[in-house]
Parts: sequence; C-alpha cells; structure tokens
Amino acid sequence: MAVLLGCIADDFTGGTDLAGMLVKAGMRTVQMIGVPQEPLGDDIDAVVVALKSRTAPVDEAIAESLAALRALQKEGCKQFYFKYCSTFDSTAKGNIGPVGEALLQALGSNFTIACPAFPANARTIYKGYLFVGDLLLSDSGMRNHPLTPMTDASLVRHLQSQVKGKVGLTEHSTVLKGEVAIRARFKALQAEGCNFTVVDALSNDDLMSIGLACADMSLVTAGSGIALGLPQNFRRAGLLADGLVADALPTTGGLRAVVSGSCSIATQGQVAAMRDKQPAFNVDPFELARGTDVVGAALAWAASRVKDGPVLIYATATPEAVKAVQAQLGTEKAGSLVEDALAGIAKGLVNLGVGQLIVAGGETAGAVVKALGITGLRIGPEIDPGVPWTVGISKDVSQKPLALALKSGNFGTPDFFLKAWSKLAS
Ligand code: ADP
Repeated sequence: MAVLLGCIADDFTGGTDLAGMLVKAGMRTVQMIGVPQEPLGDDIDAVVVALKSRTAPVDEAIAESLAALRALQKEGCKQFYFKYCSTFDSTAKGNIGPVGEALLQALGSNFTIACPAFPANARTIYKGYLFVGDLLLSDSGMRNHPLTPMTDASLVRHLQSQVKGKVGLTEHSTVLKGEVAIRARFKALQAEGCNFTVVDALSNDDLMSIGLACADMSLVTAGSGIALGLPQNFRRAGLLADGLVADALPTTGGLRAVVSGSCSIATQGQVAAMRDKQPAFNVDPFELARGTDVVGAALAWAASRVKDGPVLIYATATPEAVKAVQAQLGTEKAGSLVEDALAGIAKGLVNLGVGQLIVAGGETAGAVVKALGITGLRIGPEIDPGVPWTVGISKDVSQKPLALALKSGNFGTPDFFLKAWSKLAS
C-alpha cells in the first residue's frame, strides 16, 4: 500500500520529533536522512525526509524541498506536510514562506495553514501571536537566536513578509467551534484571495480539530503538533488501520555496544553509570592527534569483551578536559578527529557482530550514520522522551539489520545506556 503522509522537515532533530509524534499517533514511520534515492518498503504509513534547509540560502532550501516532494510523490503520498520549528525559526526573507509557496505551486494548490503551535511544549498561538510559555516569541530567548532572531511575534506579519501571496488568520474563537467552523473559515479566506492562514491553537484539542479540518488539504505547513490531528483523517477514510502497533521493529539480534562522543552533562552521567557496570574503553584525542591506531586498539579490546554483554567506547570528557584538548588541537580539529575515530569504531563494531548500537551525541551520530551508509531510520519504541530505538535503512541490502538509538547530548536518564536494551527484542 502507498505511503499516506509525506513530510519534509527543515532540520534533522525536527524530523525526529515529527517522526516520533506520528508513531505515537499510530502511523508506521520512516525518517530519511536527505532525499530518498530508492523506493521505500511497503509497510510504511508516513515518511519524514529530514533536510538541512532551515538556514540554507532560500533558493537552495526551495530546490531541496522540491526534490524531497518529488521523491515523496513517487511513493504515492496522499498528503504532504512541511515541518518547521515550533518557534517558527526563519528570517524576514524565509525559508518557511518561500518553501511553503513553492510546495503549494508544485502541488497545484493555492491554500494551506501555518501553525507552529505545540502546546505540550508551551508553544501556543493566540490572535496570530506566538507565545513561548508566558512570553511573546519576540520577548523570549528566540529574540537573540544567532541565525534566526525572532523579533516579531505576529506570525501573520512575519509570514506575510516572506511570501508573495496573502496571509490570513483563523482565530481561536473559530477553532473552538470545531472542524466544520474551521473549514468554513478556510473557505472564506480562500474566497478573499488568501493562500495561507495562521491558525490559533492553545491545546491538543485545538490541534485535533485543526487536523480534522485539514483532511482535504494537499499541503499542511506546521510544527510537529499538527501531527497529532492528521492520522485520524486517514483512519476515517479507511486507509489506516485502528490499533496498529506503529512502533514495532524487525528483530535485529546481534551484540550490543555504546559509542559516545557527547560531552554534555547528561551524557557524562550516563557514561559514568555504564562504566561502573560494564567494560569501557576511553578514546583519547591526544593519542589520535599523535597518529596512534586508537581505532584498531579499541576494536581489539572490544573483540574479546563484546560477546559477554554491552561494551562502552567513549570520548566523553569533562569540560576542563575538553578545553585542554581544544586549546592544544583546535576545536574543529579535535571534533573531527574524535568523530572520525568513533565512526570508524562503530563500523568495526558492526563487523564484529554488533546489531544493537547506541550512539551519544548529535554530531557523533551524524558521523556514525554516514560511515555505516545508513540513509534512513525506521522509528521504533521510545526509550526516553525524544530518543526512540530505530532500525537503520541502508543502500547496501546485504547489510544485516542494525538497531540504532541516536541520543543527542542532553537527552535521557542517567541509566539510559543500561536500560535501553530492554526495549528491544534480543
Ligand atoms: P552533543 O549532542 O552532546 O552536542 P556532539 O556529538 O554533537 O554531542 O558534539 C560533541 C563534539 O565533541 C563532537 O564533535 C566530538 O567529536 C567532540 N568531542 C568528544 N569528546 C571530546 C574530547 N574528549 N575532547 C574534545 N572534543 C571531544
């Protein structure tokens, strides 16, 4: 059966966030790293293509998003979802508006919503103004964001500055009346010549009503919140089974390892907790800089231990130690030396028979995924908020299935590396 919902996320972690929401809402979901080149499997309800287009030049962001749309159209998607941040991260020039307009045009459509609201994370929209907790967006920390400073909380005004078409507003009083009233408001705005409507939302109930009202829209543009409200449309239409176990993963088996390149506080605690209980090998950046074969040493060390239970290989260090390394080697050089080594170690571990791998650190995970030739992730059960188990999708079909948990720095409880395995079939 064809994929139902095709999503384009403007950054990687945003893509993961959306994919997690869709799984929770009962859709079997795959997150692709970049534009998919090959057709995907047939037991998938939603695909999230994660781009890096949030702060790219406008033309590049449009071209990449259109390429993603074409790939998703080939999968037969019934509806498309352009996902951006719940703080509407963009400048007066883009990229949310221009990408939204280009996608609308490519789909032969002329109307969509703009709704970054995510009430569970205290992002709400009232009278078109975006709030972060108790503050207007423009009074929040986003005011000083280095790349996309948000100095206007009026989403109507901000989006209007980015697009050629007209932007309207669907107010909370309408949203409260439910699906039929919202749909009528959309029709009225369309008749007035609007191409976008910002939609107020203060609660998950609002997101559910808005989601229902978007059933016939070819494109939805939103934060991840609206993902709560869309799957019910496919169920109503008989396209999505009720009670589907959306987070089931194929069993991978294999040995278990953790590779950690994150130096964040949470990860330091997790490394300390695992080092207490399981064999651990420290990757020393100074040794790497000296040209010692640390990768070979780590793999030889792991080879004799990994059959007996999970092993930990880590570069994780205290802020003082990291500063000392950076002062001597340079921040970028130190980062890439460690990332390359950990990526090589991860590859070697897979060759040793590791089939279940936790990687700590956003950049570290990027390097590991690249070295392993992984192009996508089938999203499985959540270990801690924001960190699911996944199974890698690889170009190389001969590669054994690999369960991966990609944990960004500050996520997870202190026992994350010890408890995560119990969520997988061994
Ligand atoms: P996080 O998600 O916590 O930000 P990342 O993997 O994104 O983690 O970033 C951590 C960076 O620190 C990576 O570039 C990694 O290679 C680097 N790094 C890891 N350990 C050390 C170390 N001991 N000294 C210097 N840099 C390190």
